[in-house]
Amino acid sequence: MSEIGGMKAIGADQTFRFACHPAVPCFTECCRMLELALHPYDFILLRRATGLDSPRLFEQFIIEEEQPGLPFPRHYLAMVDDGRASCPFVGANGCGIYPFRPAACRSYPLGRAALFAAGVTEERFVCVREPHCRGFASGAMYRPTEYLAAQGLDEINRCHDAVARFLQRPEMRDFTPKAEEKRLYVLALCQIDLFRARLEAGAFPDFAAADAAASGDDGEFLIRTVAWLERKFFHCRQGASC
Ligand code: SF4
Ligand code: SF4
Repeated sequence: MSEIGGMKAIGADQTFRFACHPAVPCFTECCRMLELALHPYDFILLRRATGLDSPRLFEQFIIEEEQPGLPFPRHYLAMVDDGRASCPFVGANGCGIYPFRPAACRSYPLGRAALFAAGVTEERFVCVREPHCRGFASGAMYRPTEYLAAQGLDEINRCHDAVARFLQRPEMRDFTPKAEEKRLYVLALCQIDLFRARLEAGAFPDFAAADAAASGDDGEFLIRTVAWLERKFFHCRQGASC
């Protein structure tokens, strides 16, 4: 493993030992004092976990921030003001939304980056060894992709990659979205219950009926929505018929 910014890069064929369970002495330590960045599929999971619609979910649990150099807002889970900045979902028995926990919680202690250039997809992994985490002391051996699959991340990462591919488009470097385009990005990718309602009300007639019909499958719908945004933001802008 080589060092990248305090984290250890781990190759796709390298293995690491890990086990996280209620008997570890650090149980739930990683659910406090953290900055939990959320990605589009996480909002699907959090709505399922809480039963809230997007306006209530955003009001109760989400921090939205504009960040210099980034075209679209970023989102974070709002932590509880309990002196330990605890996750709102952590309790004495662990994660209260475990089947629906966000992607970052699933992949820990691994980080994964997908890079898209010239039609080639490259995956890179890092392994984060924080002093408090005792999960490396025992457990099964995993290659990075094995660990991510075991955490239910294959379908989630398929959706994340569609968004990442969109955000890594060469045109994105010179793209300064208008305020309404930023709102559309958040609506379409992070508030898909509201987006579907607007779609059904006829607000977006350029969204293909076949794509709208995929709305029963949240992941597939998200991927088709990314493709629609790409057409809307780039293809249509260049004067092509859409
Ligand atoms: S969502 Fe669950 S796993 Fe993630 S930080 Fe909160 S309590 Fe921990
Ligand atoms: S710190 Fe590591 S071992 Fe401890 S609960 Fe979190 S992931 Fe599991």
